[in-house]
Amino acid sequence: DRPTPTNFIRQIVEDDLASGKHRTVVTRFPPEPNGYLHIGHAKSICLNFGLAQEFGGVCHLRFDDTNPAKEDIEYVEAIERDVRWLGFDWGDKLFHASDYFQQLHDYALHLIRAGKAYVCSLSAEETRAWRGTLTEPGRDSPYRTRSVEENLDLFARMRAGEFPDGAHVLRAKIDMAAPNLNLRDPVLYRIKHAPHPLTGDAWCIYPMYDYAHCVSDALEGITHSLCTLEFEDHRALYDWILDQLPVPCHPRQIEFSRLNLSYTVMSKRRLHELVEGGHVHGWDDPRLPTLSGLRRRGVPAAAIRDFCGRVGVTRKENVIDVVQLETCIREALEQDALRALAVLRPLKVVIENYPADQTDWLDAPNHPQRPELGSRQLPFGREIYIERDDFMLDPPKDFHRLAPGREVRLRFAYFIRCERVVTDPASGQVLELICSYDPATRGGNAPDGRKVKGTLHWADARHAVRAQVRLYDRLFAVPDPAGEADYLAQRNPDSLQVLTDCLLEPALTDASGAYQFERLGYFAPDPDSRPDAPVWNRTVSLRDTWAK
Ligand code: ATP
Ligand code: MG
Ligand code: MG
Repeated sequence: DRPTPTNFIRQIVEDDLASGKHRTVVTRFPPEPNGYLHIGHAKSICLNFGLAQEFGGVCHLRFDDTNPAKEDIEYVEAIERDVRWLGFDWGDKLFHASDYFQQLHDYALHLIRAGKAYVCSLSAEETRAWRGTLTEPGRDSPYRTRSVEENLDLFARMRAGEFPDGAHVLRAKIDMAAPNLNLRDPVLYRIKHAPHPLTGDAWCIYPMYDYAHCVSDALEGITHSLCTLEFEDHRALYDWILDQLPVPCHPRQIEFSRLNLSYTVMSKRRLHELVEGGHVHGWDDPRLPTLSGLRRRGVPAAAIRDFCGRVGVTRKENVIDVVQLETCIREALEQDALRALAVLRPLKVVIENYPADQTDWLDAPNHPQRPELGSRQLPFGREIYIERDDFMLDPPKDFHRLAPGREVRLRFAYFIRCERVVTDPASGQVLELICSYDPATRGGNAPDGRKVKGTLHWADARHAVRAQVRLYDRLFAVPDPAGEADYLAQRNPDSLQVLTDCLLEPALTDASGAYQFERLGYFAPDPDSRPDAPVWNRTVSLRDTWAK
Protein backbone atom coordinates (compact mmCIF):
# COMPACT_ATOMS: atom_id res chain seq x y z
CA ASP A 1 0.00 0.00 0.00
CA ARG A 2 1.12 3.54 -0.67
CA PRO A 3 1.75 5.80 2.38
CA THR A 4 -1.40 7.24 3.89
CA PRO A 5 -1.78 10.94 3.14
CA THR A 6 -2.17 13.04 6.24
CA ASN A 7 -5.52 14.46 7.27
CA PHE A 8 -6.98 16.65 10.00
CA ILE A 9 -7.80 13.72 12.29
CA ARG A 10 -4.33 12.26 12.03
CA GLN A 11 -3.03 15.74 12.88
CA ILE A 12 -5.21 15.89 16.02
CA VAL A 13 -3.94 12.48 17.12
CA GLU A 14 -0.36 13.51 16.47
CA ASP A 15 -0.84 16.72 18.49
CA ASP A 16 -2.49 14.85 21.38
CA LEU A 17 0.42 12.44 21.58
CA ALA A 18 2.99 15.23 21.29
CA SER A 19 1.33 17.33 24.01
CA GLY A 20 1.04 14.36 26.34
CA LYS A 21 -2.77 14.55 26.42
CA HIS A 22 -2.67 10.88 25.48
CA ARG A 23 0.12 8.35 25.70
CA THR A 24 -1.51 6.03 23.21
CA VAL A 25 -4.33 6.07 20.72
CA VAL A 26 -7.43 3.90 21.14
CA THR A 27 -10.05 4.00 18.39
CA ARG A 28 -13.03 1.81 17.60
CA PHE A 29 -15.11 0.74 14.65
CA PRO A 30 -18.71 0.50 15.92
CA PRO A 31 -21.01 -1.17 13.37
CA GLU A 32 -24.61 -1.94 14.10
CA PRO A 33 -25.14 -5.61 13.14
CA ASN A 34 -28.23 -4.85 11.07
CA GLY A 35 -26.78 -5.31 7.59
CA TYR A 36 -23.60 -6.02 5.66
CA LEU A 37 -20.65 -3.65 5.52
CA HIS A 38 -20.24 -1.49 2.44
CA ILE A 39 -17.38 0.53 1.03
CA GLY A 40 -18.48 3.52 3.11
CA HIS A 41 -17.79 1.47 6.21
CA ALA A 42 -14.41 0.60 4.70
CA LYS A 43 -13.50 4.27 4.91
CA SER A 44 -14.25 4.25 8.62
CA ILE A 45 -12.45 0.92 9.14
CA CYS A 46 -9.34 2.08 7.30
CA LEU A 47 -9.34 5.33 9.24
CA ASN A 48 -9.85 3.82 12.70
CA PHE A 49 -7.64 0.75 12.31
CA GLY A 50 -5.16 2.73 10.23
CA LEU A 51 -4.63 5.38 12.94
CA ALA A 52 -4.21 2.73 15.62
CA GLN A 53 -1.67 0.88 13.49
CA GLU A 54 0.26 3.96 12.58
CA PHE A 55 0.58 5.27 16.13
CA GLY A 56 1.08 1.91 17.82
CA GLY A 57 -2.34 1.97 19.47
CA VAL A 58 -5.32 -0.34 19.28
CA CYS A 59 -8.63 -0.31 17.49
CA HIS A 60 -11.64 -2.05 19.00
CA LEU A 61 -14.36 -3.76 17.05
CA ARG A 62 -17.56 -2.93 18.89
CA PHE A 63 -20.96 -4.17 17.87
CA ASP A 64 -23.46 -1.46 18.53
CA ASP A 65 -26.19 -3.96 19.38
CA THR A 66 -28.76 -1.84 21.18
CA ASN A 67 -31.70 -2.51 18.86
CA PRO A 68 -32.50 -6.24 19.10
CA ALA A 69 -35.43 -6.01 16.67
CA LYS A 70 -33.18 -5.32 13.70
CA GLU A 71 -30.01 -7.18 14.56
CA ASP A 72 -28.91 -10.65 13.66
CA ILE A 73 -26.00 -13.04 14.16
CA GLU A 74 -25.71 -13.41 10.36
CA TYR A 75 -24.66 -9.76 10.21
CA VAL A 76 -22.23 -10.15 13.11
CA GLU A 77 -20.45 -12.96 11.29
CA ALA A 78 -20.43 -11.12 7.98
CA ILE A 79 -18.98 -8.00 9.60
CA GLU A 80 -16.16 -9.92 11.29
CA ARG A 81 -15.35 -11.71 8.02
CA ASP A 82 -15.33 -8.45 6.06
CA VAL A 83 -13.14 -6.51 8.50
CA ARG A 84 -10.60 -9.35 8.48
CA TRP A 85 -10.71 -9.62 4.72
CA LEU A 86 -10.04 -5.90 4.47
CA GLY A 87 -6.80 -6.64 6.30
CA PHE A 88 -7.48 -5.53 9.87
CA ASP A 89 -7.30 -7.36 13.15
CA TRP A 90 -8.91 -6.35 16.42
CA GLY A 91 -7.00 -9.01 18.39
CA ASP A 92 -8.87 -9.57 21.66
CA LYS A 93 -10.55 -6.17 21.50
CA LEU A 94 -13.99 -7.40 20.52
CA PHE A 95 -16.81 -5.67 22.39
CA HIS A 96 -20.55 -5.20 22.32
CA ALA A 97 -22.61 -2.31 23.54
CA SER A 98 -24.65 -5.04 25.22
CA ASP A 99 -21.60 -5.89 27.37
CA TYR A 100 -22.41 -2.61 29.13
CA PHE A 101 -26.17 -3.00 29.65
CA GLN A 102 -25.79 -3.35 33.41
CA GLN A 103 -23.39 -0.42 33.69
CA LEU A 104 -25.59 1.70 31.41
CA HIS A 105 -28.54 0.91 33.63
CA ASP A 106 -26.61 1.81 36.76
CA TYR A 107 -25.48 5.08 35.22
CA ALA A 108 -29.12 5.79 34.36
CA LEU A 109 -29.93 5.44 38.08
CA HIS A 110 -27.10 7.87 38.76
CA LEU A 111 -28.67 10.38 36.35
CA ILE A 112 -32.10 9.97 37.93
CA ARG A 113 -30.72 10.46 41.44
CA ALA A 114 -28.88 13.57 40.28
CA GLY A 115 -32.13 14.98 38.89
CA LYS A 116 -30.75 14.70 35.35
CA ALA A 117 -33.18 12.13 34.01
CA TYR A 118 -36.88 11.43 34.35
CA VAL A 119 -39.46 8.91 33.25
CA CYS A 120 -41.73 10.47 30.66
CA SER A 121 -45.10 9.00 29.76
CA LEU A 122 -45.96 11.03 26.68
CA SER A 123 -46.69 8.98 23.59
CA ALA A 124 -44.13 8.97 20.77
CA GLU A 125 -46.28 11.38 18.75
CA GLU A 126 -46.75 13.73 21.70
CA THR A 127 -43.03 13.68 22.38
CA ARG A 128 -42.37 14.66 18.78
CA ALA A 129 -44.97 17.40 18.82
CA TRP A 130 -43.74 18.85 22.12
CA ARG A 131 -40.18 18.89 20.96
CA GLY A 132 -40.58 22.10 18.93
CA THR A 133 -38.71 22.91 15.75
CA LEU A 134 -35.54 24.67 14.71
CA THR A 135 -37.38 28.00 14.96
CA GLU A 136 -39.66 27.21 17.91
CA PRO A 137 -38.62 26.06 21.37
CA GLY A 138 -40.09 22.84 22.71
CA ARG A 139 -42.45 22.55 25.66
CA ASP A 140 -41.62 20.84 28.93
CA SER A 141 -43.19 17.45 29.36
CA PRO A 142 -45.78 17.39 32.18
CA TYR A 143 -43.76 14.46 33.60
CA ARG A 144 -40.56 16.49 33.78
CA THR A 145 -41.21 17.43 37.40
CA ARG A 146 -41.62 13.87 38.67
CA SER A 147 -39.73 13.32 41.90
CA VAL A 148 -36.53 11.29 42.07
CA GLU A 149 -38.40 8.63 44.07
CA GLU A 150 -41.18 8.35 41.48
CA ASN A 151 -38.64 8.19 38.67
CA LEU A 152 -36.64 5.47 40.42
CA ASP A 153 -39.82 3.50 41.03
CA LEU A 154 -41.11 3.82 37.46
CA PHE A 155 -37.72 3.05 35.92
CA ALA A 156 -37.42 -0.07 38.11
CA ARG A 157 -40.87 -1.17 36.96
CA MET A 158 -39.98 -0.46 33.31
CA ARG A 159 -36.98 -2.69 33.77
CA ALA A 160 -39.06 -5.35 35.54
CA GLY A 161 -41.34 -5.64 32.51
CA GLU A 162 -44.49 -4.16 34.04
CA PHE A 163 -45.27 -1.92 31.06
CA PRO A 164 -45.85 -2.52 27.37
CA ASP A 165 -43.62 -1.10 24.65
CA GLY A 166 -43.98 2.66 24.35
CA ALA A 167 -45.69 3.23 27.72
CA HIS A 168 -42.77 5.17 29.18
CA VAL A 169 -39.28 6.29 28.29
CA LEU A 170 -36.39 7.58 30.32
CA ARG A 171 -35.34 11.05 29.18
CA ALA A 172 -32.39 13.25 29.99
CA LYS A 173 -33.40 16.49 31.68
CA ILE A 174 -31.48 19.12 29.75
CA ASP A 175 -33.26 22.05 28.09
CA MET A 176 -36.43 22.05 26.01
CA ALA A 177 -35.48 25.45 24.61
CA ALA A 178 -31.97 24.46 23.52
CA PRO A 179 -31.25 25.60 19.95
CA ASN A 180 -29.77 22.14 19.34
CA LEU A 181 -32.76 19.81 19.16
CA ASN A 182 -30.65 16.90 20.38
CA LEU A 183 -30.50 18.59 23.77
CA ARG A 184 -34.27 18.88 24.18
CA ASP A 185 -34.59 16.13 26.76
CA PRO A 186 -33.51 13.26 24.48
CA VAL A 187 -34.71 9.74 25.16
CA LEU A 188 -32.12 7.57 26.91
CA TYR A 189 -34.08 4.32 27.33
CA ARG A 190 -37.09 2.76 25.70
CA ILE A 191 -39.16 -0.31 26.53
CA LYS A 192 -38.83 -3.09 23.99
CA HIS A 193 -40.05 -6.57 24.79
CA ALA A 194 -37.72 -8.34 22.39
CA PRO A 195 -35.09 -10.99 23.07
CA HIS A 196 -31.55 -9.88 22.40
CA PRO A 197 -29.13 -12.14 20.45
CA LEU A 198 -26.60 -11.99 23.32
CA THR A 199 -28.47 -11.01 26.47
CA GLY A 200 -31.59 -13.04 25.71
CA ASP A 201 -34.52 -12.10 27.93
CA ALA A 202 -32.42 -10.35 30.56
CA TRP A 203 -33.62 -6.92 29.45
CA CYS A 204 -36.81 -5.39 28.20
CA ILE A 205 -35.49 -1.83 28.27
CA TYR A 206 -32.76 -0.91 25.82
CA PRO A 207 -30.54 2.17 25.77
CA MET A 208 -30.73 4.59 22.85
CA TYR A 209 -27.75 4.97 20.55
CA ASP A 210 -26.71 8.41 21.83
CA TYR A 211 -26.64 7.19 25.41
CA ALA A 212 -25.00 3.82 24.79
CA HIS A 213 -22.41 5.10 22.38
CA CYS A 214 -20.63 7.71 24.45
CA VAL A 215 -20.70 5.56 27.57
CA SER A 216 -19.30 2.55 25.67
CA ASP A 217 -16.53 4.76 24.30
CA ALA A 218 -15.69 6.00 27.79
CA LEU A 219 -15.75 2.53 29.37
CA GLU A 220 -13.36 1.23 26.73
CA GLY A 221 -10.93 4.12 27.14
CA ILE A 222 -11.39 5.32 23.59
CA THR A 223 -9.24 8.41 23.00
CA HIS A 224 -10.66 9.56 19.67
CA SER A 225 -14.23 8.67 18.74
CA LEU A 226 -14.52 9.14 15.00
CA CYS A 227 -17.90 9.34 13.35
CA THR A 228 -19.58 10.77 10.29
CA LEU A 229 -20.78 14.34 10.01
CA GLU A 230 -24.45 13.65 10.67
CA PHE A 231 -23.42 13.17 14.30
CA GLU A 232 -21.94 16.63 14.58
CA ASP A 233 -25.12 17.92 16.23
CA HIS A 234 -25.06 14.97 18.63
CA ARG A 235 -21.64 15.91 19.97
CA ALA A 236 -23.13 18.30 22.54
CA LEU A 237 -25.22 15.42 23.89
CA TYR A 238 -22.23 13.04 23.82
CA ASP A 239 -20.34 15.54 25.97
CA TRP A 240 -23.30 16.36 28.23
CA ILE A 241 -23.90 12.73 29.13
CA LEU A 242 -20.26 12.03 29.89
CA ASP A 243 -20.04 15.23 31.95
CA GLN A 244 -22.82 13.98 34.24
CA LEU A 245 -21.37 10.53 34.89
CA PRO A 246 -18.41 9.18 36.88
CA VAL A 247 -16.99 7.57 33.72
CA PRO A 248 -13.29 6.64 33.55
CA CYS A 249 -12.53 9.07 30.71
CA HIS A 250 -14.10 11.49 28.27
CA PRO A 251 -13.23 10.63 24.65
CA ARG A 252 -13.20 13.32 22.00
CA GLN A 253 -15.75 12.92 19.23
CA ILE A 254 -14.47 14.02 15.83
CA GLU A 255 -16.62 14.01 12.72
CA PHE A 256 -15.64 13.47 9.10
CA SER A 257 -17.64 13.33 5.89
CA ARG A 258 -19.21 10.09 4.72
CA LEU A 259 -18.03 8.34 1.64
CA ASN A 260 -20.61 8.57 -1.12
CA LEU A 261 -20.10 6.85 -4.43
CA SER A 262 -21.77 7.68 -7.74
CA TYR A 263 -24.15 5.27 -9.50
CA THR A 264 -24.91 3.32 -6.34
CA VAL A 265 -26.72 3.54 -3.02
CA MET A 266 -25.10 3.00 0.33
CA SER A 267 -27.63 3.36 3.09
CA LYS A 268 -28.46 0.11 4.80
CA ARG A 269 -32.15 0.77 4.36
CA ARG A 270 -31.78 0.86 0.58
CA LEU A 271 -29.40 -2.09 0.51
CA HIS A 272 -31.99 -4.07 2.47
CA GLU A 273 -34.64 -3.07 -0.06
CA LEU A 274 -32.47 -4.16 -2.98
CA VAL A 275 -31.66 -7.50 -1.38
CA GLU A 276 -35.07 -8.31 0.06
CA GLY A 277 -36.90 -7.04 -3.01
CA GLY A 278 -34.93 -9.47 -5.15
CA HIS A 279 -33.46 -6.65 -7.24
CA VAL A 280 -30.03 -8.19 -6.69
CA HIS A 281 -28.99 -11.73 -5.77
CA GLY A 282 -28.12 -11.37 -2.10
CA TRP A 283 -25.83 -9.16 -0.05
CA ASP A 284 -22.78 -10.41 -1.92
CA ASP A 285 -24.16 -9.62 -5.36
CA PRO A 286 -21.10 -8.32 -7.23
CA ARG A 287 -23.03 -5.22 -8.33
CA LEU A 288 -23.48 -4.00 -4.77
CA PRO A 289 -21.02 -1.70 -2.98
CA THR A 290 -20.94 -4.16 -0.07
CA LEU A 291 -17.54 -5.52 0.87
CA SER A 292 -18.81 -9.06 0.31
CA GLY A 293 -20.09 -8.06 -3.14
CA LEU A 294 -16.81 -6.40 -4.06
CA ARG A 295 -14.87 -9.43 -2.80
CA ARG A 296 -17.05 -11.80 -4.82
CA ARG A 297 -16.58 -9.62 -7.86
CA GLY A 298 -12.82 -10.13 -7.51
CA VAL A 299 -11.82 -6.75 -6.09
CA PRO A 300 -8.65 -7.12 -3.98
CA ALA A 301 -8.79 -5.72 -0.46
CA ALA A 302 -5.66 -3.71 -1.26
CA ALA A 303 -7.57 -1.80 -3.95
CA ILE A 304 -10.19 -0.77 -1.40
CA ARG A 305 -7.59 0.31 1.14
CA ASP A 306 -5.82 2.28 -1.56
CA PHE A 307 -9.10 3.89 -2.61
CA CYS A 308 -9.95 4.88 0.97
CA GLY A 309 -6.50 6.42 1.35
CA ARG A 310 -6.87 8.38 -1.85
CA VAL A 311 -10.33 9.80 -1.14
CA GLY A 312 -8.88 11.09 2.12
CA VAL A 313 -10.57 12.33 5.26
CA THR A 314 -12.18 15.75 5.29
CA ARG A 315 -15.28 17.50 6.58
CA LYS A 316 -16.59 18.31 3.11
CA GLU A 317 -19.58 16.34 1.81
CA ASN A 318 -19.04 15.06 -1.69
CA VAL A 319 -19.74 12.19 -4.04
CA ILE A 320 -16.77 10.24 -5.30
CA ASP A 321 -16.89 9.17 -8.92
CA VAL A 322 -16.99 5.37 -9.10
CA VAL A 323 -14.38 5.69 -11.86
CA GLN A 324 -11.88 6.46 -9.09
CA LEU A 325 -12.63 3.15 -7.43
CA GLU A 326 -12.31 1.34 -10.75
CA THR A 327 -8.93 2.99 -11.31
CA CYS A 328 -7.68 1.69 -7.94
CA ILE A 329 -8.96 -1.79 -8.80
CA ARG A 330 -7.19 -1.80 -12.18
CA GLU A 331 -3.97 -0.57 -10.64
CA ALA A 332 -4.01 -3.26 -7.98
CA LEU A 333 -4.81 -6.02 -10.48
CA GLU A 334 -2.41 -4.85 -13.18
CA GLN A 335 0.47 -5.70 -10.85
CA ASP A 336 -0.56 -9.15 -9.77
CA ALA A 337 -3.16 -10.65 -12.06
CA LEU A 338 -1.86 -13.42 -14.31
CA ARG A 339 -2.74 -13.14 -17.98
CA ALA A 340 -4.90 -15.64 -19.83
CA LEU A 341 -6.80 -16.03 -23.08
CA ALA A 342 -10.57 -16.44 -23.11
CA VAL A 343 -13.22 -15.93 -25.76
CA LEU A 344 -16.55 -14.63 -24.52
CA ARG A 345 -18.64 -14.78 -27.72
CA PRO A 346 -17.00 -17.47 -29.83
CA LEU A 347 -16.84 -17.62 -33.64
CA LYS A 348 -15.40 -20.81 -35.09
CA VAL A 349 -12.28 -20.63 -37.27
CA VAL A 350 -10.98 -23.62 -39.24
CA ILE A 351 -7.37 -23.36 -40.35
CA GLU A 352 -7.51 -25.38 -43.51
CA ASN A 353 -3.77 -25.83 -44.02
CA TYR A 354 -3.14 -26.95 -40.43
CA PRO A 355 -2.89 -30.74 -39.80
CA ALA A 356 -6.09 -32.13 -38.29
CA ASP A 357 -4.72 -33.99 -35.27
CA GLN A 358 -1.76 -31.79 -34.48
CA THR A 359 -1.53 -29.65 -31.35
CA ASP A 360 1.17 -27.04 -30.98
CA TRP A 361 1.99 -26.15 -27.36
CA LEU A 362 3.01 -22.52 -27.38
CA ASP A 363 4.89 -20.87 -24.57
CA ALA A 364 3.00 -17.87 -23.20
CA PRO A 365 4.33 -15.66 -20.37
CA ASN A 366 1.93 -15.22 -17.43
CA HIS A 367 2.65 -11.52 -17.05
CA PRO A 368 4.23 -9.30 -19.70
CA GLN A 369 6.21 -7.20 -17.19
CA ARG A 370 6.99 -9.87 -14.62
CA PRO A 371 8.98 -12.81 -16.02
CA GLU A 372 9.34 -14.18 -12.47
CA LEU A 373 5.66 -15.16 -12.68
CA GLY A 374 6.59 -17.81 -15.27
CA SER A 375 4.72 -19.00 -18.31
CA ARG A 376 2.23 -21.65 -19.34
CA GLN A 377 1.70 -23.83 -22.40
CA LEU A 378 -1.09 -22.78 -24.70
CA PRO A 379 -2.55 -25.40 -27.07
CA PHE A 380 -3.16 -24.48 -30.70
CA GLY A 381 -4.89 -26.68 -33.29
CA ARG A 382 -6.74 -26.70 -36.57
CA GLU A 383 -10.01 -25.51 -35.03
CA ILE A 384 -10.00 -22.44 -32.87
CA TYR A 385 -12.44 -19.76 -31.78
CA ILE A 386 -12.08 -16.01 -31.94
CA GLU A 387 -14.31 -13.27 -30.57
CA ARG A 388 -17.34 -12.62 -32.77
CA ASP A 389 -16.64 -8.86 -32.50
CA ASP A 390 -13.21 -9.41 -34.01
CA PHE A 391 -14.65 -10.28 -37.41
CA MET A 392 -16.62 -8.14 -39.86
CA LEU A 393 -17.89 -9.20 -43.25
CA ASP A 394 -17.75 -5.72 -44.66
CA PRO A 395 -15.53 -3.66 -42.39
CA PRO A 396 -14.62 0.00 -42.52
CA LYS A 397 -11.02 0.80 -43.44
CA ASP A 398 -9.86 1.36 -39.89
CA PHE A 399 -11.06 -2.05 -38.66
CA HIS A 400 -7.77 -3.77 -37.89
CA ARG A 401 -9.17 -7.13 -37.02
CA LEU A 402 -10.29 -10.02 -39.20
CA ALA A 403 -12.30 -9.69 -42.43
CA PRO A 404 -12.45 -11.56 -45.74
CA GLY A 405 -8.99 -11.53 -47.33
CA ARG A 406 -7.35 -9.83 -44.33
CA GLU A 407 -4.54 -11.12 -42.16
CA VAL A 408 -4.19 -10.82 -38.35
CA ARG A 409 -1.89 -12.15 -35.65
CA LEU A 410 -3.19 -14.66 -33.13
CA ARG A 411 -1.69 -13.86 -29.74
CA PHE A 412 1.39 -16.06 -29.00
CA ALA A 413 0.66 -18.08 -32.19
CA TYR A 414 0.60 -17.36 -35.93
CA PHE A 415 -0.65 -14.99 -38.58
CA ILE A 416 -3.91 -16.20 -40.13
CA ARG A 417 -5.71 -14.97 -43.24
CA CYS A 418 -9.44 -15.24 -43.78
CA GLU A 419 -9.98 -17.18 -47.01
CA ARG A 420 -13.71 -17.88 -46.99
CA VAL A 421 -16.74 -17.24 -44.84
CA VAL A 422 -19.41 -19.84 -44.20
CA THR A 423 -22.79 -18.21 -43.68
CA ASP A 424 -26.21 -19.56 -42.95
CA PRO A 425 -28.06 -19.38 -46.28
CA ALA A 426 -31.34 -18.52 -44.61
CA SER A 427 -30.29 -15.85 -42.10
CA GLY A 428 -26.99 -14.72 -43.58
CA GLN A 429 -25.42 -15.19 -40.15
CA VAL A 430 -21.70 -15.92 -40.13
CA LEU A 431 -21.25 -19.54 -39.00
CA GLU A 432 -17.52 -20.04 -39.35
CA LEU A 433 -14.41 -18.76 -41.03
CA ILE A 434 -12.06 -20.77 -43.19
CA CYS A 435 -8.56 -19.40 -42.72
CA SER A 436 -5.01 -20.26 -43.62
CA TYR A 437 -2.01 -19.83 -41.37
CA ASP A 438 1.61 -19.04 -42.14
CA PRO A 439 3.85 -21.56 -40.30
CA ALA A 440 6.78 -19.14 -40.57
CA THR A 441 5.05 -16.65 -38.25
CA ARG A 442 5.10 -18.86 -35.15
CA GLY A 443 5.46 -16.62 -32.08
CA GLY A 444 3.95 -13.66 -33.93
CA ASN A 445 6.49 -12.26 -36.40
CA ALA A 446 6.88 -12.74 -40.15
CA PRO A 447 10.45 -13.43 -41.37
CA ASP A 448 9.69 -11.44 -44.53
CA GLY A 449 8.96 -8.41 -42.37
CA ARG A 450 5.31 -8.02 -43.38
CA LYS A 451 3.17 -6.35 -40.76
CA VAL A 452 -0.32 -6.95 -39.45
CA LYS A 453 -2.16 -4.37 -37.38
CA GLY A 454 -4.42 -6.56 -35.29
CA THR A 455 -3.60 -9.14 -32.62
CA LEU A 456 -6.55 -11.27 -31.56
CA HIS A 457 -7.11 -13.49 -28.55
CA TRP A 458 -8.44 -16.95 -29.28
CA ALA A 459 -9.20 -20.39 -27.81
CA ASP A 460 -8.30 -23.85 -29.08
CA ALA A 461 -11.48 -25.84 -29.80
CA ARG A 462 -10.22 -29.18 -28.53
CA HIS A 463 -8.73 -28.00 -25.24
CA ALA A 464 -10.82 -25.00 -24.29
CA VAL A 465 -12.89 -25.08 -21.11
CA ARG A 466 -16.50 -24.00 -21.47
CA ALA A 467 -17.55 -21.45 -18.84
CA GLN A 468 -20.22 -19.02 -17.83
CA VAL A 469 -19.02 -15.45 -17.59
CA ARG A 470 -20.94 -12.67 -15.83
CA LEU A 471 -20.39 -9.11 -16.95
CA TYR A 472 -21.42 -6.33 -14.62
CA ASP A 473 -22.32 -2.75 -15.18
CA ARG A 474 -23.46 -0.04 -12.81
CA LEU A 475 -26.52 -0.99 -10.82
CA PHE A 476 -28.07 2.44 -11.41
CA ALA A 477 -28.26 4.46 -14.59
CA VAL A 478 -28.03 7.84 -12.85
CA PRO A 479 -25.09 9.24 -10.85
CA ASP A 480 -27.10 9.99 -7.71
CA PRO A 481 -29.90 7.41 -7.41
CA ALA A 482 -30.47 8.17 -3.72
CA GLY A 483 -31.44 11.70 -4.74
CA GLU A 484 -34.30 10.44 -6.91
CA ALA A 485 -37.85 10.13 -5.60
CA ASP A 486 -38.12 6.56 -6.89
CA TYR A 487 -34.58 5.34 -6.82
CA LEU A 488 -35.55 1.75 -7.70
CA ALA A 489 -36.87 3.01 -11.04
CA GLN A 490 -33.37 4.26 -11.82
CA ARG A 491 -31.84 0.80 -11.93
CA ASN A 492 -29.76 0.00 -15.01
CA PRO A 493 -31.57 -2.86 -16.81
CA ASP A 494 -28.25 -4.09 -18.21
CA SER A 495 -26.34 -4.25 -14.94
CA LEU A 496 -25.84 -8.01 -15.33
CA GLN A 497 -25.09 -9.86 -18.54
CA VAL A 498 -24.65 -13.63 -18.37
CA LEU A 499 -22.68 -15.27 -21.18
CA THR A 500 -22.95 -19.04 -21.18
CA ASP A 501 -20.74 -20.35 -23.99
CA CYS A 502 -17.45 -18.73 -23.20
CA LEU A 503 -14.23 -20.61 -23.86
CA LEU A 504 -11.24 -20.42 -21.52
CA GLU A 505 -7.71 -21.65 -22.10
CA PRO A 506 -7.07 -24.89 -20.17
CA ALA A 507 -4.67 -23.24 -17.70
CA LEU A 508 -7.76 -21.65 -16.14
CA THR A 509 -9.14 -25.03 -15.08
CA ASP A 510 -9.60 -24.90 -11.29
CA ALA A 511 -7.88 -21.52 -11.20
CA SER A 512 -8.40 -19.20 -8.25
CA GLY A 513 -7.62 -15.56 -7.80
CA ALA A 514 -7.60 -12.74 -10.28
CA TYR A 515 -6.74 -13.04 -13.97
CA GLN A 516 -6.54 -10.61 -16.80
CA PHE A 517 -8.29 -12.08 -19.82
CA GLU A 518 -6.33 -10.29 -22.51
CA ARG A 519 -8.24 -7.46 -24.19
CA LEU A 520 -11.33 -8.17 -22.06
CA GLY A 521 -10.64 -7.09 -18.51
CA TYR A 522 -9.93 -8.58 -15.11
CA PHE A 523 -11.86 -11.64 -14.03
CA ALA A 524 -12.18 -13.87 -10.98
CA PRO A 525 -13.91 -17.21 -10.45
CA ASP A 526 -17.32 -17.02 -8.78
CA PRO A 527 -18.27 -19.30 -5.86
CA ASP A 528 -21.12 -20.61 -8.04
CA SER A 529 -18.44 -22.53 -10.01
CA ARG A 530 -18.71 -26.33 -10.14
CA PRO A 531 -15.82 -28.57 -11.22
CA ASP A 532 -17.39 -29.16 -14.63
CA ALA A 533 -19.13 -25.79 -14.88
CA PRO A 534 -16.88 -22.85 -14.04
CA VAL A 535 -18.36 -19.39 -13.56
CA TRP A 536 -16.26 -16.24 -13.81
CA ASN A 537 -17.03 -12.65 -12.90
CA ARG A 538 -15.63 -9.66 -14.69
CA THR A 539 -14.21 -7.52 -11.91
CA VAL A 540 -13.52 -4.52 -14.11
CA SER A 541 -12.87 -3.82 -17.78
CA LEU A 542 -9.40 -2.79 -18.93
CA ARG A 543 -10.35 0.79 -19.59
CA ASP A 544 -13.15 3.05 -18.56
CA THR A 545 -15.54 2.37 -21.41
CA TRP A 546 -18.49 3.97 -19.73
CA ALA A 547 -17.81 7.57 -20.69
CA LYS A 548 -18.36 6.98 -24.41
P1 ATP B 1 -26.09 3.34 7.19
O1 ATP B 1 -26.28 4.80 7.03
O2 ATP B 1 -25.73 2.63 5.93
O3 ATP B 1 -27.21 2.70 7.96
P2 ATP B 1 -24.65 3.42 9.62
O4 ATP B 1 -23.81 4.60 9.88
O5 ATP B 1 -25.93 3.44 10.32
O6 ATP B 1 -24.78 3.19 8.06
P3 ATP B 1 -23.17 1.66 11.25
O7 ATP B 1 -23.17 0.20 11.27
O8 ATP B 1 -23.66 2.38 12.42
O9 ATP B 1 -23.96 2.06 9.95
O10 ATP B 1 -21.74 2.21 10.84
C1 ATP B 1 -20.57 1.87 11.53
C2 ATP B 1 -19.56 2.96 11.33
O11 ATP B 1 -19.29 3.15 9.95
C3 ATP B 1 -20.06 4.28 11.89
O12 ATP B 1 -19.04 4.86 12.66
C4 ATP B 1 -20.37 5.09 10.67
O13 ATP B 1 -20.17 6.44 10.89
C5 ATP B 1 -19.40 4.52 9.63
N1 ATP B 1 -19.95 4.69 8.29
C6 ATP B 1 -21.13 4.22 7.83
N2 ATP B 1 -21.34 4.61 6.58
C7 ATP B 1 -20.27 5.35 6.21
C8 ATP B 1 -19.88 6.03 5.02
N3 ATP B 1 -20.66 6.04 3.96
N4 ATP B 1 -18.69 6.68 5.03
C9 ATP B 1 -17.90 6.67 6.09
N5 ATP B 1 -18.20 6.05 7.24
C10 ATP B 1 -19.37 5.38 7.31
MG1 MG C 1 -24.98 3.89 12.92
MG1 MG D 1 -27.90 4.00 9.91
